[in-house]
Parts: sequence; structure tokens; C-alpha cells
Amino acid sequence: MSRIVLVSNRVNDQSKSTHSGGLSVVIASILQSQPSIWFGWNGAVSEIDDIDPHLTGVSIGNTLIASLPLMESEFRDYYLGYSNSVLWPVFHDRLDLAQFENGYYSEYRNVNRRFADELHSLLRPDDIVWVHDYHLIPMALELRKLGISNRLGFFLHTSVPPAQSYLAIPEHRELSRALSAYDLIGLQTQYDVSNLIDIFKHSAAGQLLSNGRISVYGRQVKVLSIPVGIDVNYFNLGPHFDTENEPDDIQHRIVGIDRLDYTKGLPQKFRAFGRFLEQNPDYRAHITLSQIAQPTRETLEAYSDIRSELESLSGSINGQYSELGWVPITYINRGVDRQELQRIYSQSNVGLVTPLRDGMNLVCKEYVASQNPDSPGVLILSQFAGAAEQLTDALIVNPYNIDEVAHAIKCALEMPLKERRHRHELLYEKVKRGNSAQWCQTFISALVADGDFYPPHELHKLPTGDQLPLGSMSLAI
Ligand code: ADP
Repeated sequence: MSRIVLVSNRVNDQSKSTHSGGLSVVIASILQSQPSIWFGWNGAVSEIDDIDPHLTGVSIGNTLIASLPLMESEFRDYYLGYSNSVLWPVFHDRLDLAQFENGYYSEYRNVNRRFADELHSLLRPDDIVWVHDYHLIPMALELRKLGISNRLGFFLHTSVPPAQSYLAIPEHRELSRALSAYDLIGLQTQYDVSNLIDIFKHSAAGQLLSNGRISVYGRQVKVLSIPVGIDVNYFNLGPHFDTENEPDDIQHRIVGIDRLDYTKGLPQKFRAFGRFLEQNPDYRAHITLSQIAQPTRETLEAYSDIRSELESLSGSINGQYSELGWVPITYINRGVDRQELQRIYSQSNVGLVTPLRDGMNLVCKEYVASQNPDSPGVLILSQFAGAAEQLTDALIVNPYNIDEVAHAIKCALEMPLKERRHRHELLYEKVKRGNSAQWCQTFISALVADGDFYPPHELHKLPTGDQLPLGSMSLAI
């Protein structure tokens, strides 16, 4: 059987189970089910000569976890620099936050080259290589330069910006060329697919062929929408809590779970909740918004700015509306483990998921899967989350429109049980059908189609991801 080689920016300790990341389960499931390699950065940052900068490997069952540290300059210019201060903001259409600094791109290429050199020594001719996310766009090109002709697939977990924004990246041609070295590029939505086709046209004179592939730099690349899913059973099988028997006066609980990132629309969310309180005084003292925002990339200015803005906004809304024994916004600056997460989702009448731009957003799917079908909560979802393309039975809102979101909160709280159940049933069906194992199977099938690297009759053997030991991979860290 061919090995699956997963390559991601970050490889985590498989023994920990408390980190965020729905993908960790499916990664763990692939790793368990067949011979595989998981390759990437081990999270350590070292001075040259401090520790061995080369690869170390740990075998767990059939799996080789192969990882390496980053040097300090690589961490600064490849990770914080090009990946998270150029590609992340531009891919989320925030050109205003992009920092096109000298030196970032060359270090980005150097790290990809170094990773490719190290991975090359481990590869066999029939390995299927699946590279994840924006940190590693040039991996395939670097591997091809080393003579690798294996199937190489890439999945971008972020959104794809409109071509005009992408063209602002000084190195856009090099990136397009690097993308052309893959056999398959998987994206979250149809909207992303159409943006990438446009990008290839404008940045690399790419042409859409009648077989659906794109001809670019002399190669034919498949570009498909393969939306990421979650491990539905983990969230669905947890205990359902009865919100009607709360010991205090709080009858309505709204939950927000996000990484603390400027793409997540948190200030707009707080303002919308403030507007709701202003317009609906009867709800005061009976409703809370619990926002759990896990800090990431804290050394970057854009992230410390958003943190200060949120502290001041929640403070001012709480200052304005709090009463003795009641605070409207509970704002928590840390992550919670998955069990706790499931409990919070299932205890909340409203899931408020309002990013300004998001590749997919798994939180909204986790919220749906955690609801009690007899008395489910209501999902309010931004039209700019990739998930909105699938979850059309949520209350879809424009997160920039504060009045609209405030109104949606009221509609959600007052929605009749029959409608809540009906919407939930439709949403749950979609979340279940597009679960994480399905996502994985679809990607690998598409990658190996037209080739015999992976026998199709083996595909059904990929596990469902249910109840497997958790890893801790969060790709967007
Ligand atoms: P992103 O990939 O941008 O972080 P997602 O909505 O796709 O956004 O979330 C990825 C995963 O991280 C989800 O499984 C979610 O449960 C988890 N997560 C996000 N924020 C938190 C948090 N504050 N605490 C714990 N887990 C979190």
C-alpha cells in the first residue's frame, strides 16, 4: 500500500489532546490507518549551533513523525514575516495589514527548500504527498527540482482573495508558478476556485481546459472545491445540557469561539451585541455573550492591536449595561479543551460566528453538531465564512452590518421550536455528510485519479475518525 505523506507547517505532539483543531482527529486517523509520514516544523525555534537543525523522527505504529526546528531568522522572516504578515492578510483580503518587507520572501523560499531537501531523503516513488496550507506553497516546486515525480497535492485552508488583491503581492508570479507544480489544488469553496482560476489567468496566463484542469506553466493542474469537515461524532455524542434548568436568571446564552485574529470580526460582534442590548432592554440581565478568544501570533502588531481593541470594547459595553450580579459579556483570552468546548456549545442557545473573512470556519460546524436535536440552538453565520456556501439554513448575516446582526440575535432568540428543529436538521445533515473523513477521502481520491498510486478499492478503508486518539494540529497557528 502506498504511504500518505502529510506535510504541514506544524507537526504536534500526538500525545496531547487539549489543543484546538478539528483536523487533528482526521490527521490522527490517516496516520493510524496506513503507513504514513507526518512531516513539518516541531515548534522549536533555535539559534544556529544551539541544537541540531536537522530532522528527527519518531515512529508510532505505522507512522513516522518527522520534524525539524526553525532557526530564529526563519521563524521571524518565514513564519511571522512572509506567511503571517504577507500571505495571511492578503489571502483574507486585508492588503492594508500586509507588510511587504525585504527579505521575507527569500527566507520563505529558503525554508521551503530546506524542508524539501529533508523530506526528499524520506520519500519513496509511490508515496502520495499531501501538503497543507499557505506556509508551504513552494514545497512541490522544490521537490520537483529534486526530481520527485510523485503525486503532489496541496490544500489551502484559507480563502483565496480576488485576483486584484493577489496581484499586489510582489512575488505573485513566483507563487503561481509554485502552485503549478502540484497535481491537485484543493480549496474550501467554489468561490475560491473561481478566484484561483482568475488568478492563474492574470498572474500566469493560465487557461481553463475543457477537461476542467488549468493549463499553467506547461502543466495541467486540477483545482477543486473540497470543503473541510469536522469529526461530527465527537461533538454529537457528547452530553447535551438542558439550558432551561439553569440555576441563575440567565435564560439566553450566546457563544463565540475564535482564535484572536483580526479576520474573525470580533469588534463588530461585540458592537452588534451592544446594539442588541440597546434596542432590547427586556433581555438585559437575562442574556450573556461568552466570547472565548485564544491568542495567537501575539508578537505581531496587528494581533496586539485587536487584543487591546477588544479589551476596551468589552469593558465599555460591560460598563454601560452591567447590573449587580450580571455582566453582559464574558470575554476569556485563552483556549479551552475539546470536552469543555462541546459543553459550552451544547449549553448555548445561539452560536454567533461572524468572521469578516474565513476559509471555512469549523466552529460553526462544531456548534451544529453539538446541539440537542430536540431543542437545538440557532446558528448565526457570516456570509463571508466559507461554511456559508454549505450551511445556507443558518441565519446568514453581513458581519459589517451591526444592525443586521443585532436583529439576527433577536430572531434567533425568539425563533419557534419547530423552525429551530427544522433548520438544525438541515444543517446537521450537511455537517454530517461533509465530515472530516469524507473530506480526506475525497481529496486523496481526486489526487490519485488517473493514476494507480493508491488502489481505489483501499479508499473505503480510511477510517471515519470517530473516537480516535487526538493529536493537536491546528494548521492556522
Ligand atoms: P481557524 O482555522 O482560523 O482557527 P476554525 O473555526 O476553522 O478557525 O477553528 C479551528 C479549530 O480551532 C476548531 O476546531 C475550533 O474548535 C478551535 N478553536 C478556535 N478557537 C478556539 C478557542 N478559543 N478555544 C479552543 N479551541 C478553539
